[in-house]
Amino acid sequence: MRICVLSDIHGNLPALEAVLAALMPYDALWQLGDIVGYGPQPDEVVARLVEEKAVGVRGNHDSAAIGALDHDAFNDDARTAVEWTAARISPQTRDWLAALPLRAVDAPFTLVHGSPRDPTWEYVYSAGVARANLPLFETTHCLVGHTHVPLVFRQRNGKVEGVHIKGEMTYAFGEERLVINPGSVGQPRDGDARASALLIDTDAGTLEWHRVEYPIERVQRLMEQQRLPRRLSTRLQFGL
Ligand code: ZN
Repeated sequence: MRICVLSDIHGNLPALEAVLAALMPYDALWQLGDIVGYGPQPDEVVARLVEEKAVGVRGNHDSAAIGALDHDAFNDDARTAVEWTAARISPQTRDWLAALPLRAVDAPFTLVHGSPRDPTWEYVYSAGVARANLPLFETTHCLVGHTHVPLVFRQRNGKVEGVHIKGEMTYAFGEERLVINPGSVGQPRDGDARASALLIDTDAGTLEWHRVEYPIERVQRLMEQQRLPRRLSTRLQFGL
């Protein structure tokens, strides 16, 4: 079975279209939250995910966009984008986001946006944070997003260590416990501007990270038209 795993799409439709085209064919599409926020096409992104029968979880930006999380917890640019998104999304988008759980399980994987300990806010950015979260999910592996950085933490000989994912990479998985981050589709922040996505091949036992080029200027133009914060659109071309 080929499972396409996407996180932090952030309303970026051209990036979503590019990764879907690159990873096809797949048998299932999983998403790890922050579907909306920052980007100019939240309704279009949700409609595309519905069409692809995506399953998954809600992120902090999604919760804020439907009024389930206080906007004050966001920095200025993020809050401006969250407020724009909240005012713009259709009732159908709102209902679809509201129906998403904060945690989903499809063994051997648990899906959350932030971390099992705090699916909304915690960033799994270090081996220490990954270690603290290992007892908090029952499946062998956990898929997380939120940091926008592709990464794997593995538990080996009692130790937890991080494996940085640079560009396109394949990682063999098995019984070893892993915390896996696919990176961000719509707003990568690891210095690589290409959209990041993960393909799990359960038959081959591999995790494949893909990086996919997409027309960044098209998104930037739409963001400008909507007067979304300039910093959010400029950073797309640097992947930072
Ligand atoms: Zn995000």
